[in-house]
Amino acid sequence: MPNRNRPSKAAAKRHHPANRTGVDYRHPPERRLPSLPITDAHIHLRGGLEALRRFFRVADLYGINRFCSMTFLEQIDEIRRTWPGRVDFIAIPDYRQFKRTRRFLNRWRHDVIEFARRGARICKLWAAPRAREQWDFTIDLPWLRPVIDAAVDAGMGFMVHVADPDAWFATRYANADIYGTKERNYDQLHWFADYVSPRPVIGAHFIGHSENLDHLDMLLNGHRNLMLDTSATKWIAREISRHRPERARQFFSRHRGRILFGSDLVIDPKYDFTHYASRYWVQQMLWESAFRGDSPIEDPDAGTADGRVRLRGVKLGDDVLREIYFANYQRLIGGLEAGLFG
Ligand SMILES: [Zn+2]
Repeated sequence: MPNRNRPSKAAAKRHHPANRTGVDYRHPPERRLPSLPITDAHIHLRGGLEALRRFFRVADLYGINRFCSMTFLEQIDEIRRTWPGRVDFIAIPDYRQFKRTRRFLNRWRHDVIEFARRGARICKLWAAPRAREQWDFTIDLPWLRPVIDAAVDAGMGFMVHVADPDAWFATRYANADIYGTKERNYDQLHWFADYVSPRPVIGAHFIGHSENLDHLDMLLNGHRNLMLDTSATKWIAREISRHRPERARQFFSRHRGRILFGSDLVIDPKYDFTHYASRYWVQQMLWESAFRGDSPIEDPDAGTADGRVRLRGVKLGDDVLREIYFANYQRLIGGLEAGLFG
């Protein structure tokens, strides 16, 4: 007897959280600049080779050619061997062992030096509000200084994560005694950007504030070494679509040399083709087109009962696309390699 409770294959497909609108991800829309190799400057390549191979097929389909990845030290060689010349690495600590101890700190410092020895040019410091909760950790903590200094001595630039969506501060982070207010979370960034200046600092996920382009203008104007990446696709798509497209376009135009394309995809056997493709598809529509319509990605932070988000494409100019997809990253990594940032 057929099981009436089980959804049909077609219905299950329709309910994929990364494809609520039935996009055919196997046939991406043509790129505005089809011959431009795109760099994903914020990604987490990890998991077994099989999961990675599944991801690389999506990346190839969407024209993503080079990656700057947060990968644990032990997996670097394997990835380099399998995809030579396509992946740069970002120094990260072994978060699985994170403790606020001298012993862990020493290991972190050694790891940074080892990453640099293997060619990594960026050091990531993750200080989301959850890091306050778990470890009472912020970037301006004197405890962390030896790690920062080691990265500076090794000639590195930085990527920092300092804040999460406004929607989370209104809900899960409502207790400011634990998480700080959103505004207070930026104190560490102001200190840090000055401390390592003129070394470049990439503020991950639109420096944590795609909700407020005025604040981002202020941050970028206040710190000449600060850049941002477009990663965390669900969050960024939701919030960028809430701004007038002309405003977003003007923002990109003004800061065109300081924006890097990134997805924040985490490669894991639990994710499939649709999940990976959805992130590249949505960002392609957002930056390259004037698309108006429902986002295929279900978003629990949308404030709508069914997680629906309206997507509004910003349609950046070709020259801006060329910079955020390719040239800015080349200049950043080339500059760090040549020691141009002090
Ligand atoms: Zn990330």
